[in-house]
This record gives sequence, structure tokens and C-alpha cells, in this order.
Amino acid sequence: MFYLPPLPYPMNALEPYISEKTMEFHYGKHHKAYVDNLNKLVKDTEFENMPLEEVVKNTAGRKEFTGIFNNAAQAWNHAFFWNCMQKDGGGEPSGELKKKIERDFGSYENFRSEFKTAATTQFGSGWAWLVSDQDGTLMILTTANQDVPDLKLYTPIFLIDVWEHAYYLQYQNRRPDYVQGWHKLIHWKKAERRYEQVLCRRERGNENGEQTDHKKRTGRDRL
Ligand code: MN
Repeated sequence: MFYLPPLPYPMNALEPYISEKTMEFHYGKHHKAYVDNLNKLVKDTEFENMPLEEVVKNTAGRKEFTGIFNNAAQAWNHAFFWNCMQKDGGGEPSGELKKKIERDFGSYENFRSEFKTAATTQFGSGWAWLVSDQDGTLMILTTANQDVPDLKLYTPIFLIDVWEHAYYLQYQNRRPDYVQGWHKLIHWKKAERRYEQVLCRRERGNENGEQTDHKKRTGRDRL
């Protein structure tokens, strides 16, 4: 049984960039529908009592479970999306994440511009993501519809929903304005913590000698 996770802030907290009415529909109707559909589809299957992320990993790319994957992935993406934003968010990152954004994208401004381009040009419904690979290299990815980056390879740092249902009530067809507003909501502290966890896992891997060979092979010891 899966539950609609509570929002980490009140429904109107993201005003004026994401309106309360948008949240009522996006969280209260769309996200809820994915959770409700998932519950119907997993009943009496092996996925019924699995953590949501495991359902996503175990149904990805398996034709016979397309319906379960679509709804599980959307339930996961949306729960994550709410936790990538906060009231009075935005500004700029700090710490390791800031350093690595500057390393991998040249500058924060350049990152911001590349991310905005990715989010506004994703054709049709989908998501734009900042992810880290296991070595701590950051990259921007986009996925169509419900798709999730390969969670075995990448750790999502944050994402933006660019389905029309995410902005149409407030911005109509002006997706670039929505993306611009969303930048003022980014929860950088949580993003920084997610990234630090990637670096910790990498450290532990190095201590165990697991990634040392890989590093030597690829010469990618840029951390
Ligand atoms: Mn959505």
C-alpha cells in the first residue's frame, strides 16, 4: 500500500511562483491519482510491499509492468519534486555542490542557463534533472513523460516537472516564465545534502578499494 506523502510546506507556500491553485491540482489531483492507480495495479503482486524506489527500479524497462512503472515513477518523481523546493528558496548553492557546479559547468550562471534551456526545450511532457554520477560528476538530464534516470548509475540532486499540468493553470503556455520562477524556489540545502551523500559513498568506496582501479583506468580523479 502506497500513501500520498504530506507536502513539506503549506499549499500556498510557493506563491507567487507556483500558485496555491496549481498545487491543489498538481499535488491533490495529479500526484494523488498516480498513487491511487499504483495501489490498484500492485494489489496481489510482488510489488505490493516494496519501497517505492524499488518498484521503480524493478519495473523499469519491463514491458509487462509498464502500467506499474508509469505510476510508480510518477509517484516517486512528484514526491521528490516537492522536496526540491521551499518557500523563499533559490539563491545560489554553497559548499561542495557550488564548487562542483563551477567545475562541471564553468560557472553557476552557465549552469543556470543550461538548466533553463534543458527544461524549456524538453519536447512535450517530462522532467529536467541535475544528477550526479557515482564519481561526483554533475550533469543535466531530461526525461520524457514519467521516465527516471537510471537510479543505479545516477543520484538525482533535484528536478523540475515540465508537464503542462505543472504550470498551465498559472502560466498557460509560458513554460520559460515558470522555469524562471521555479529557480526562486530551489531548496539548495537539501540539494547540497544529497550531493554530500554521493561524495561520502564515493569516499567509502575508495577506502574499500572498490573504485580505485576504475579511477586509475579512466583518469577521472577530479574530486
Ligand atoms: Mn506533475
